[in-house]
Amino acid sequence: MMIKTISILGSTGSIGRQALDVADALGIYPAALAADKDFRLMESQARKYGPKTVAMRNENAAKELKARLADTDTKVLSGQSGLNDAAAASDMVLSAIVGIAGLTPTLSAIEAGRDIALANKETLVCAGSIVTQRAALKNVRIIPVDSEHSAVFQCLNTDNPKHLRRIILTASGGPFYGKTKDELKTVTPEQALKHPNWSMGAKITIDSATLMNKGLELIEAMHLFAVKPEQIDIVIHKESIIHSMVEFTDGAVIAQMGVPDMRLPISYAMTYPDRFDFGGSSLNLFDIGALTFDKPDTETFGCLALAKKAVCTGGTACAVLNGANEAAVELFLKHEIGFNQIAEFVERALDRISVIQNPSLDDILDSDAEARQIINSIKRIR
Ligand code: NAD
Ligand code: MG
Repeated sequence: MMIKTISILGSTGSIGRQALDVADALGIYPAALAADKDFRLMESQARKYGPKTVAMRNENAAKELKARLADTDTKVLSGQSGLNDAAAASDMVLSAIVGIAGLTPTLSAIEAGRDIALANKETLVCAGSIVTQRAALKNVRIIPVDSEHSAVFQCLNTDNPKHLRRIILTASGGPFYGKTKDELKTVTPEQALKHPNWSMGAKITIDSATLMNKGLELIEAMHLFAVKPEQIDIVIHKESIIHSMVEFTDGAVIAQMGVPDMRLPISYAMTYPDRFDFGGSSLNLFDIGALTFDKPDTETFGCLALAKKAVCTGGTACAVLNGANEAAVELFLKHEIGFNQIAEFVERALDRISVIQNPSLDDILDSDAEARQIINSIKRIR
């Protein structure tokens, strides 16, 4: 049965805005919206969709929003507790806050027994074991929204998952694929923000340019589909038409294809196991002509290799990888470090921090904080 209400965490972002369109098209009521501090956009979303609750993490933004929405019935919450309450308020929660900031609200939603439509991959990268264990305990479904993982999920739904042999994640390669390390020295955030096939938030667009995004997605896939890293291959497929593939034990490979449009995985997560026409366009193979596949160049794009290294180390290593990357990407976006230094800085953080195996949630949050500190201290002494 289709869900009736949804909480959208990160509603002012790229995924959040598309999710509001999709929910509207499907007749699902966005009962709660949450975001960081963009109170202007949140006000217009609240006026358009009339949610019961909205939450702003930033207290001043919440105050401003409360004054602006005084003439409406929408309740305005604030801070971490506001995000957590918003997360627990509906049949399903779309987790689309960017970064590890999405972890705690996602856990609150699981605690409340809400099914999760998961866009926020950092949640699984940092705390995959804890999140999947708690979800299993609460009988909560985690349905992927990340396009590759939605593709794998859709492919697996054609067969018994026990027949799964291998997952093939596709990667567009981002705007810089094919460039040399030397050429990458001087690329700017403005150039990196121009993704060839997708229009997304700033952090994930930079991750796509460094290929860290594919590294994070490899870790995400391990947790979502309970597979070992050796069972996941990464293929550069610059057309972004095949969103990913699975290979079954008899060698059959099933691919999910389509026009690149995040509304499809968002819609599928909301309507699964059903499908609805959300208004997306049809694939025209004649226009595309040919599909190409390439090996990832992990020499030039060191972040992918670092993600694999963090997986092998295990424990808090992936939280360190993620925290260091979030901090380094922020510095790159502020023009404080160069593009190649993102990988260099993440590597140094991974080398410096001692790893805790079988970590608690606090260990994970501490490792994240430590990784950010290290990145900022490396920057200062440089
Ligand atoms: P975005 O930057 O466009 O939006 C981020 C949202 O998170 C905003 O609403 C912002 O207000 C909110 N936010 C940020 N920090 C917060 C905090 N501390 N507390 C509460 N809210 C906070 O990002 P996006 O591109 O929409 O990506 C969101 C997530 O979805 C990311 O984890 C990303 O990896 C994943 N994802 C995005 C795409 C895409 O096409 N954009 C595709 C796959 C996966
Ligand atoms: Mg993706």
